[in-house]
Amino acid sequence: MSELRREAQPASMRCLYLDNNATTRVDPQVLEAMLPFFTEHFGNASSKHDFGETASDAVRTARGRVQKLIGAARDTEIVFTASGTEAGNTAILSALETQAGRNEIITSQVEHPAILAVCDHLEKTGRAKIHRIPVDTDGRLDIDAYRSALGANTACVSLMWANNETGVVFPVEQLAAPAHEAGALFHSDAVQATGKIPIDIRNTPIDLLSFSAHKLHGPKGIGALYVRKGVPLQPLIRGGRQERGRRAGSENVPAIVGFGKAAEAARRSLQNDMPRVKNLRDTLERRLLATIDDASVIGDRANRIPTTLNIAFAYLESDAILVLLNKRGIAASSGSACASGSMEPSHVLRAMKVPYAAAHGAVRFSLSRESTAADIDRVLEVMPEIVAKLRGPALTLDTPRSPMALQESYV
Ligand code: PLP
Repeated sequence: MSELRREAQPASMRCLYLDNNATTRVDPQVLEAMLPFFTEHFGNASSKHDFGETASDAVRTARGRVQKLIGAARDTEIVFTASGTEAGNTAILSALETQAGRNEIITSQVEHPAILAVCDHLEKTGRAKIHRIPVDTDGRLDIDAYRSALGANTACVSLMWANNETGVVFPVEQLAAPAHEAGALFHSDAVQATGKIPIDIRNTPIDLLSFSAHKLHGPKGIGALYVRKGVPLQPLIRGGRQERGRRAGSENVPAIVGFGKAAEAARRSLQNDMPRVKNLRDTLERRLLATIDDASVIGDRANRIPTTLNIAFAYLESDAILVLLNKRGIAASSGSACASGSMEPSHVLRAMKVPYAAAHGAVRFSLSRESTAADIDRVLEVMPEIVAKLRGPALTLDTPRSPMALQESYV
């Protein structure tokens, strides 16, 4: 996507950001709360003098705010990490270590690389057997396959709460109970769900939950792992006694303060903003489908986080669409499709068996509480023109646009 960076934009053009599943803008109030912890309140939270006390008080306040966002019963159940990725890795590696005599992990084919890569590594090094549960063409988990994979050797189930590419929500509340019946721990990667849909961990039988600040208008480089009281945890990073011995290393106090502030705002936003954001997303979806031929929504429309629309424009390359959108001041994404430059659609779209011609033209618009009706109008103004330009006047819908259009699907 280097082309995206090279395209110059007129200075007067307002940049419109619809790539909030990648990251969100830090809320100015979050930044303001963080700044003193770089300057006058720079103490180490483990120090016993006043500088240290100020820092540790701020960490305590932030922990309480993060606890509230997911409805955890105790603030001691929150362990700060350096990212959502670290939280997910910690959960899986710890479960494998603490579930003595069990060496199998169940996950899905559509997880984020934060989970899939650690599972691949465990498999390659012979430390675990991995079951990757398939999904249907709407991205819904194959529950029968999941149930039959569970057994006496299952150490841990790791299933995401919401998918980063399609927004599809897995029914994690229901998936956790069978895991427990099999004696396994249940972890959910809730990085894309937190702050977008309500999470009430007290009433959800989940042992471990990972999430991250930068998806909810907090800073990058700070995440959290929820560890239910009584669930054993082996640290990934060993050293000092920070985080009650569960994650060593001096706390990143400014980032933790920012996470706390962002979590507080995200909690309010669930009621105050998410219904409006869902309306905006639905309007965008409805009007794109109405005005552009051969467009189709990817993912279960009835079960998605309110911020995400993944829409395929058949016979087009998503990179070409993204370049033209960017030229017009609109930032969107193709999920992780073609991330390697190999022109392979993402593992998520392949797992969903999205037909080849559609998968290549998939664009992800991801909104946030900062998105406005004017943003949506602007996308609706430019998209028909972009698609017409790329499809070209000479082609008809019956004309195969490229050799890939001749292929029906990946399977
Ligand atoms: N899990 C999901 C579903 C994600 O979308 C992301 C980030 O895109 C991560 C995990 C990783 O989070 P972090 O960037 O904090 O490491």
